Order: sequence, then structure tokens, then C-alpha cells
Amino acid sequence: MAQIIDGKAMSKEIRLELHQELKEFVAAGNRLPHLTAVIVGEDPASQTYVHNKMLACKEVGISSETKILPESTTQDELLQLINQLNTDENVTGVLIQLPVPDHIDERTICNAVAAEKDVDGFHEINIGRLALDMEGTIPATPLGVKTLLERSNIETFGRNAVVVGRSKNVSLPMAMLLHSDGRHSIKGLDSTVTICHRYTPPKELAKFCRQADIIVVAVGKPGLITKDMIKPGACIIDVGINRIKDEKTGKFKLVGDVDYEEVRQVAGHITPVPGGVGPMTVTMLMHNTLKAAKKQNATRLLNV
Ligand code: NAD
Repeated sequence: MAQIIDGKAMSKEIRLELHQELKEFVAAGNRLPHLTAVIVGEDPASQTYVHNKMLACKEVGISSETKILPESTTQDELLQLINQLNTDENVTGVLIQLPVPDHIDERTICNAVAAEKDVDGFHEINIGRLALDMEGTIPATPLGVKTLLERSNIETFGRNAVVVGRSKNVSLPMAMLLHSDGRHSIKGLDSTVTICHRYTPPKELAKFCRQADIIVVAVGKPGLITKDMIKPGACIIDVGINRIKDEKTGKFKLVGDVDYEEVRQVAGHITPVPGGVGPMTVTMLMHNTLKAAKKQNATRLLNV
């Protein structure tokens, strides 16, 4: 039976560490980091995600605020607000909750946030730096997975890893962290990586997964990864979040992309949903926010 990787407990531990780090930063005379989150429209999932991020800020001690803009907000209006936040010295982190409405171009918005305030790590500069193994801001979900693997002592060096999904915000940076060189500044995980996606035939997906020592799945399809696709003892990281109706109770519940009950019988390690990657994502956002504030502070001192 697989060992469960408890992302909730690990998150709690890291948030305490971040709280301590923040206290020391402020005690040294630095300004409190401040995160501004922006939501455009009324998507209830976005509101829940941002609410959780604000609660995490409170837990760590980061000052924060949420700006909710109407669905009808134009791209120019949003860009204007981002510009204001970019130049506001009191704001050290800016987060535009995705998805934005269809009439707004997501890439334009991600690139408009100043790279040094981009705590999501979605700016082209930050993605580019990650691709080159250079220090920058790493997107919170893949950074959360990397931290889960490291703190659970999962061996990645020279191992086979499969990333299922090829999104630019989750799977691509995940693959970059898994394959890159551990001696470079981002301290990559040195695995051999295969990326599977919607056009990977199911038979091939199963074949690649069966060779994997580590599988990270980020698709959004419940039950995609089944027991027969798992190499005994493999580490299974389930990023997927799906809201489904429980047939027994009739109530809605959250599940991942992995057939958890079956897969845990053969895997060596597994993350649950909820309580695995989700809390780590929020915690890594806090890590990024504190790191961004520290960096801006160092730059300000250099410019005095
Ligand atoms: P996305 O929709 O951008 O990407 C989904 C990917 O799945 C695509 O690249 C697609 O090619 C691939 N795919 C679709 N069908 C497939 C199949 N049959 N086999 C293999 N690949 C297939 O999604 P995303 O933003 O990367 O998110 C993926 C999932 O992770 C969603 O459920 C999302 O809610 C969840 N998520 C969770 C967290 C967290 O903190 N736990 C954070 C971000 C996203």
C-alpha cells in the first residue's frame, strides 16, 4: 500500500517557516510584503481560490487585498490597473487570477505584470529564465510538486518521469523542473522526462506511464490514471482537481485524475485530492511573494 504524501501537513510546516522568515525580514526594518490579487468576473471557483490565497497570506503574515472587477472590464482597463499596481511601491506582489474572460488576452495580461512582482511566475521573462535554469519566479504548482518530492525524499536523479498534460502554467514548467540539471541554480531534479498530452494515444499513455518511476498528472479528467498503468512502487503526484457528484451520498466532492483507491494499492507514494498538491500550490505562492518582496528590497537598497 502506497505511502500518502500529506501536502496539507507539509504546507502547514512550510507556512510556519515562512512566517518566521517574514518576521525576521520585517524586524530588520523592511516593509511588510503586500500581495494584490485581481479577479475579473464572477467565476465562483476563482473566488474560492483567491479566498484561500488571502487566508494563507494572513497565516504567514503577508498583507493582502483582492480587487474584484466586473466581467465587462476591458483589456485596456485591466492593463491600466496592472500598470498602477506595477508602479505602486507598497505593492510587492501582483496576481491576476486566471482564467480571465474571453475578450481579454491571457498572455498579454501575464506579460503586463512587472516581472519582479509576478508571484505566479507566468511572465515570459520568468518562464524564459526557468527554461534556461536561471533564478527567477517559478510557477507555484510545479514548485509545490518539486518541494513535495524533495521533502518526501523521493529519488528523482536518473529516474524516469512522465508528465501527463502540456499546459504552459503547470505541466511545461513541471517538465522543466523534472528534467533540468541539479547543479544549476534552479536545482533541477535530473530525471528523464516524457510529456504526454491529449494526442498521446491511450495505449501509448499507458505504456509510458508503466515505465515511470514518477508520474505527475495535470489534465482534469477523473480516473484517467488507472492501476494497470502503474509500475509497482512508483510515485504518483495528482495535480488534477475535478468536482464530481458522489454516487453514494449525492453530494459534490473533489477528486483528482488518478483512480486513487486502486492506484494506491500498487504505488509506492501517492498524493491525495484534496490535501496533496492544492495546499502546496498556495504555500508556494506565499514563498514566491516573500521572495519577490526580498528581491525588490535588495534592488531598492542598491539604487539608494
Ligand atoms: P489545461 O486544461 O490547461 O491542460 C490540460 C492538459 O491535459 C492539456 O495539455 C491536454 O493536452 C491534456 N490532456 C487532455 N486530455 C488528455 C488525455 N486524455 N491524456 C493525456 N493528456 C490529456 O489544464 P491545467 O491548467 O494544466 O490543469 C490541469 C488540471 O490540474 C485541472 O484539473 C486543474 O484544475 C488542475 N490544477 C490544479 C492545481 C492545484 O493546485 N492542485 C493547480 C492548477 C491546475
